[in-house]
Amino acid sequence: MNVLLEPWSGPFGGVPPFDRVRVEDFKPALEAAMDEQLREIERIASDPAPATFENTIAAMERGGRAFDRVTSIYGIFAGTMRSPSFQEVEREMEPKLAQFCDRIVQNEKLFARIAAVYEARETSGLTPEQQRLVWLKYTEFARSGARLGAAEKRELSEINQRLATLYTQFSQNVLADENAYTLFLEDERDLAGLPESVRAAAAAAAEERGHRGRWAILNTRSSVEPFLTYSGRRNLRERVWRTFTSRGDNGDTHDNKRIIADIVRLRDARAKLLGYPSHAHWRLEMSMAKTPRQAIALMEEFWKPAVARVAEEVAEMQAIADREGAGHAIEPWDYRYYAEKVRKEKYHLDENEVMPYLQLENLREAMFWVAGELLDLNFRPLFGIPVYHPDVRVWEVSDGAGRHVALFYLDPYARADKVSGAWMNAYRNQERFEREVTTIVSNNANFVKGRPGEPVLVSWGDATTLFHEFGHALHGLSSNVNYPSLSGTNVDRDYVEFPSQLLESWLMTPEVLGRFARHYRTGEPIPKSLVERIERASKFNKGFENVEYLSSALVDMHLHLDPARAGDVVAFERETLASLGMPRQMTMRHRLPHFGHLFSGDSYSAGYYSYLWADTLSADAFEAFTEAHGPYDKKVAERLREYVFSTGNTVDPAESYRAFRGRDAVIEALMRKRGFGGSLARQ
Ligand SMILES: [Zn+2]
Repeated sequence: MNVLLEPWSGPFGGVPPFDRVRVEDFKPALEAAMDEQLREIERIASDPAPATFENTIAAMERGGRAFDRVTSIYGIFAGTMRSPSFQEVEREMEPKLAQFCDRIVQNEKLFARIAAVYEARETSGLTPEQQRLVWLKYTEFARSGARLGAAEKRELSEINQRLATLYTQFSQNVLADENAYTLFLEDERDLAGLPESVRAAAAAAAEERGHRGRWAILNTRSSVEPFLTYSGRRNLRERVWRTFTSRGDNGDTHDNKRIIADIVRLRDARAKLLGYPSHAHWRLEMSMAKTPRQAIALMEEFWKPAVARVAEEVAEMQAIADREGAGHAIEPWDYRYYAEKVRKEKYHLDENEVMPYLQLENLREAMFWVAGELLDLNFRPLFGIPVYHPDVRVWEVSDGAGRHVALFYLDPYARADKVSGAWMNAYRNQERFEREVTTIVSNNANFVKGRPGEPVLVSWGDATTLFHEFGHALHGLSSNVNYPSLSGTNVDRDYVEFPSQLLESWLMTPEVLGRFARHYRTGEPIPKSLVERIERASKFNKGFENVEYLSSALVDMHLHLDPARAGDVVAFERETLASLGMPRQMTMRHRLPHFGHLFSGDSYSAGYYSYLWADTLSADAFEAFTEAHGPYDKKVAERLREYVFSTGNTVDPAESYRAFRGRDAVIEALMRKRGFGGSLARQ
């Protein structure tokens, strides 16, 4: 039997059989699992008994288990082990998977039964969680075209298959450009300004790629950003910046512009078919923001003060450049470099001074410690659990009473076949409607591995990302629900980023820094004066950060509201940024030709605003702690666990938040967090 189809064996209710996975098994396993689930669905749909929650909704929750197991490992490989042979499987299987989903959604007998259970949901003795599950299933089916006529359903399914193919092409192109354009430096003088840790990582990266004795600047964020921050070689900064911001935009076989135009056009056609004015309207209907107008209104609150702040930042940087006789204006490839100089001069804070205290291994221990303080969770390393790569490590998570809660996998390092960025995923959802099933979650990042035996030192920004992803992990592994579809992080995007962004705030707490930020050579804790300087500098460079993010989020939303202009995405991008008043010294965090959030799948399309939306919640929620006894206040933490981290999608997010906070979130907390005055908020 195909190992991917087998029930997982081993401890803790079974673990993924990574030691026996072969790429050639994916296709037959996916096909067999789809067939099996279609047979299950047919049985449910043609049940002669009248439709009930039990024989329809619960039966669907019970089914598809082989499919869940296969697609779980398939998804893990798509993120972390995306070899050329695996990419071939993706190209073949993605449209088939889209077609498979549509066959379920478009099964008329099945939808009639779901609709019958939905109609009777308030009078059939269901629990609130069951009612929500029924509502969610019904709404998802309806939103995916279950109510359309036969011809429209066929058209919709063709669009979805075509989109699946385009998403795969898009993300494979970005990965190709990240691998194809590595800058190898041969002359030590080209390393001017780079701190020792960045040099060591670049040397290790070059050696790994068969260029011993040289230094590799990879075309990925975790390699590019430190280079742009420290390199004193302006021509190389410009080259690295241009290469990085041109991913997917090189006019070659991996160019994404045509693909984006097709994606946007097809999404618009799909939205119209489903009865929505635009893809953005369709996408936001189930979110907290509800409408594009509300999402844009929030972004605009922050846009003006952020742009004004950039002007101040540029003026400060230009003054330094002029004083040093640089003889040029600040360009986008200069921003990080001069910002770092301002940070040193104004806040007496040198990122190089901070990094020796931020060891990856210690930060991980810090996250585990925070999980213990806030959620009463303990982490114990496990050995001998199968992993797909030797860099991956596994921990058992248990609660204060010693009960098993979850497994946590961590895959921290960059590899050629790994998608860049950082993310969390659930290998298995928590549930208990038939029997207790514990969850398995993972965190993934792209830290550049140091030399063997050397600790990996990370920047403050990367440490924040680590905490962010761990917030998603905690959200997943705190799940305490009955049905797997409502479990953990199965909530809309503009709510799912709330627990993750919230957790970032604990990195800065003196409790964490005092215990875990220790110098990698001397073991000395980070000096108090340095922590104070970090705190003072925490509002530093917020113009840059906000404009970089907001420009990306606004372009995303406007593109999906105005699809007719997607034919030339570069022109669209340029014109939209001009009309927004984008500062000329900056570019978007993600330009459209490599904006994976939008075009590697549906999930963050017309949804990049979600980070801002969710951050209004996280800033406001953190103030619940500071208004009480501080970040480790047990009572507030308990409310957070009860109403936010453990509830999955069993409750409407707005209600969950209200139950936690006693009121709705207010925008002022985020204005304070980002260092924008209350008066600016009203402009
Ligand atoms: Zn996130």
